[in-house]
Amino acid sequence: MRTLLRGGRLAVNDRLESWDLLLEDGRIAAMGPALEATPDCVVDASGAYVLPGFIDIHTHLDDRIGHFELADDYERGSRVAVLNGITTIGSFVTQGPEESLRAAMQRARAKASGRLHADLAWHLTPTSFTEADFAFLETLPRAGYHTIKLYSTYREAGIFADYDRMASLFRRLGPHGFRFLVHGEDDALLSAVDLSALDLTLASSHGRMRSVATEVTAINTLAALAAETGASIHVVHVSSTAGAAAVAQGRVIADLSCETCPQYLWLSDDHLAQPDGHRWLCCPPLRQDPSGLRAFARTGAFEVLATDHCAFRKQDKDAWNHRDIRTVASGLPGLGALPHLAWKIWEGDPDVAALAMARHLSREPARVMGFSHRKGALVPGLDADVVVLDASGVQRPIQASLSDVYDPYSGFTSPLAFRHVLRRGEVVVAHDNLCSPERPSGQLLQGEP
Ligand SMILES: [Zn+2]
Repeated sequence: MRTLLRGGRLAVNDRLESWDLLLEDGRIAAMGPALEATPDCVVDASGAYVLPGFIDIHTHLDDRIGHFELADDYERGSRVAVLNGITTIGSFVTQGPEESLRAAMQRARAKASGRLHADLAWHLTPTSFTEADFAFLETLPRAGYHTIKLYSTYREAGIFADYDRMASLFRRLGPHGFRFLVHGEDDALLSAVDLSALDLTLASSHGRMRSVATEVTAINTLAALAAETGASIHVVHVSSTAGAAAVAQGRVIADLSCETCPQYLWLSDDHLAQPDGHRWLCCPPLRQDPSGLRAFARTGAFEVLATDHCAFRKQDKDAWNHRDIRTVASGLPGLGALPHLAWKIWEGDPDVAALAMARHLSREPARVMGFSHRKGALVPGLDADVVVLDASGVQRPIQASLSDVYDPYSGFTSPLAFRHVLRRGEVVVAHDNLCSPERPSGQLLQGEP
């Protein structure tokens, strides 16, 4: 099957080129001005940007968090993803108590198989560390697992890894090619907060419970550990300009990268002060005026833009005891909002925005996930994941999730329209509609453990 995309402006090597793009058998075959080709199918890309398929490396899907089953399973999450140009998703497998990591991976595989509209890869959170566990982990890069997710807090959830534990994992598993995705809030500082001085009935207390200082301290410590051990570390969901500055300092001494998320770029703690402020609770918390973080983003301070998509049903988000905000289901949906809110950062200059999307929503996420050899750019030989993006459509509401959730971005609109989304050469979205809703044909990018 040969498909020719004609007349678009392609993002190639940080430039826009008025080229044609030829796809063959699921891969990018050729590109150039006025390509001579005899395709089976021609896609009109005139007047549109032609970008590599977007990648959201940070999504929580089909999982149980605390007492609550997430609203989005793999089918619903990947559906809203491809409808918005996200052709690859990164999600998580967490080893449960009394469970092997292998069993957890098989459990996730069974849930996701045949239910994906986007391609998917997992980051792994191991929680037991016997010699046999390490021996198993060391085999996984061969099956395509390149990332381990660690948490610098969440002791009660059984996933906390202290800095000594992290250092030992960095030393042992780093040389096998793993990159470590780390949740950066310093547990000692979090534990030292005097909760009796806070009104825990108010969502607006969240920022003082989980301060910017906890983020900065964790990032500084991680950078030092990365420098000491030679590990590659990606700091997830950086929420503050001070956190971003700490990452910038860390890059001088270590292989450090980071992401921020739409909620930290576009929402503020003003939401937490509202009567329904608990509906905006997520970790780290929303901060003050987010315009400073957007200014950082415009300088390229965040390699990756990702969502930390964690969608709770309305009834679950409201099911807290009204005495302690720590009983609120913490997390926000974001998948369907990501490209729109990324675009908005560079809105005044569409060409710059298009190139920024190719970089921060595709190339860098692919690199961090360890999939640059398959995805993340318009390069012959890579998977034909392609977005044909109209940037001058009518303003329409943004929708972060298709499930029954409180949408944190209600009121936000976007001019982006997805004329076509191709995943491995197959047109999966045409004119903002899913072509085969009953036939999810996304792939698992990793093998059987
Ligand atoms: Zn997360």
